[in-house]
Amino acid sequence: MHLNPYGEYAVLLAASLANDMPEGRSGIEERARTFGMTMDFIPTPEDHELTRRVIEDWLRVVDATDPQERAALLNQQMAAAAAYPRLVDHDDEGWHLHYRDTNQGMPHVFRAIFSVGTALHLTTRGMHRLGRCAAGEDPGDPCRAVVVDVTRNGRQRYCSVRCANRAAVRRHRARTGAPSGNGQKPQRPSVN
Ligand SMILES: [Zn+2]
Ligand SMILES: [Zn+2]
Repeated sequence: MHLNPYGEYAVLLAASLANDMPEGRSGIEERARTFGMTMDFIPTPEDHELTRRVIEDWLRVVDATDPQERAALLNQQMAAAAAYPRLVDHDDEGWHLHYRDTNQGMPHVFRAIFSVGTALHLTTRGMHRLGRCAAGEDPGDPCRAVVVDVTRNGRQRYCSVRCANRAAVRRHRARTGAPSGNGQKPQRPSVN
């Protein structure tokens, strides 16, 4: 996998697995391929469970909103998984950097690229550019999706248009005192 200078694809893959973990190892492998990772690892029966744990640890970074704490957690994870950067040229990808030793299993490689990729993402784009969907901050809202903010202005707060709209409707109701509960946008009063 190419970790581009922004670490973007590694972080987006981690978020994708966190938001929707595939059932089996092959599902994880397929997902990783769609994010540009060549998956030439020898499969083991623990791959799915260990990947789930890697994501669990990564979510602690997502939920650490204090930059100091966020950095400390990432430093721990990089120390545990990442190796000296290594120049490699495989599978016609062209020369690129690996941040891990060769011949590691899939979960170990995930831990290395997710931690290094997230560190690159946060240091190049901003330490606050990772979190949970803001819709979930409202009481009773179920969304816990991870949001990786790769936008130009750095103001992405919602995981989806749907969540942004739902939160906007709630704000509108709070302002106007309109009754809630039918899940629809407030209607204009009829004029006839
Ligand atoms: Zn590679
Ligand atoms: Zn959401």
